[in-house]
Amino acid sequence: MKKVNLAPAIMLVLLWTTLARAQVRYEIAFPDLPGYRTLKCDLHTHTVFSDGAVWPTVRVNEAWRQGLDAISVTDHIEYQPHKDDLPTKHNRPYELAVGPAKQRNLLLPRGTEITRDTPPGHFNAIFLSDVNPLETKNFAEVIERANQQGAFVFWCHHAWKGAERGRWLEVHTTLYENKWLHGMEVCNGDSYYPEAHRWCLEKKLAMLGNSDIHDPDLRTRYTPADHRTLTLVFAKQRTLASLKEALVEGRTAVWFKDQIIGRKEWLGPLFGRCVQVAKPHLRSRTAVWVVIRNVCDLDIRLQRKGKLGPALLTLPARTTYLVKINTSKPGEPAKLSYTAANFLVAPEEGLPVTLQVPAP
Ligand SMILES: [Zn+2]
Ligand SMILES: [Zn+2]
Repeated sequence: MKKVNLAPAIMLVLLWTTLARAQVRYEIAFPDLPGYRTLKCDLHTHTVFSDGAVWPTVRVNEAWRQGLDAISVTDHIEYQPHKDDLPTKHNRPYELAVGPAKQRNLLLPRGTEITRDTPPGHFNAIFLSDVNPLETKNFAEVIERANQQGAFVFWCHHAWKGAERGRWLEVHTTLYENKWLHGMEVCNGDSYYPEAHRWCLEKKLAMLGNSDIHDPDLRTRYTPADHRTLTLVFAKQRTLASLKEALVEGRTAVWFKDQIIGRKEWLGPLFGRCVQVAKPHLRSRTAVWVVIRNVCDLDIRLQRKGKLGPALLTLPARTTYLVKINTSKPGEPAKLSYTAANFLVAPEEGLPVTLQVPAP
């Protein structure tokens, strides 16, 4: 019998599935706020142009597939471990990534990481027009030059390394007083920094959460339990200019593990859009039955503060949840007071919320 060679056909099928997969995007579910688009952003990533392990276009492809709206490639200026294989070219990662980003409608502010021992530490500058002038010795001058280009500057992983790590020192006060520092990473990768969280609240700095990813991200889609640390930015439009305006104004929240971290001002409306309470579909003399929908990618944990409703409620991500509410007035609308334990408005402080149950 004549043998049929299936190898070319198999290769074609494999190639086709790989290509098809590259065109599939899995959306991240965090709803828009009244008047604002919720942009999912990772503003701290690396490539082979500093100490990362991927080519810049890989960052664009993976971010688009995983449902992000914006990324910044922020290679280190001062740390160039691959320079023997790849010449130092600070603008090259952006130049390589920007075309593919435009094709995918992904926002890509030009960025870099200013990399100094602590103090002062590492700072990302994004929305730059040219990274090269930032390669200069004097730290204050670097930050000033970034600001002259209209950059948004944030302090990265402030508690990471060095004898004086995690401390707010005079150099930081100088940046802050000159209005050269606009935000801080409250979360970086797997780390959460409560002091950065407090400083952002006190000093009205934008809160950011980024991956600081160096390796390829092998996930095709995120789950509530497995995702990059991201910054949610509440922007008027899905444009670079709106993204920057929202960052400068501090309209952000951080998606970190199973938590959302941010100012009450933004977490309140976000919760309001994530959780929808239906009209009770059944009532008895002592109870009503109602469904509560959670449309976002977070398993929302609620702890009762008032008298009505179950003591603990967990609303799994993207589900509808059935609740029986014991009440002496089943014909009337009810207000259930809870704390959203994983909507963090300050270190170890959940967001107070009210679930409004309409009359049946
Ligand atoms: Zn760093
Ligand atoms: Zn970094």
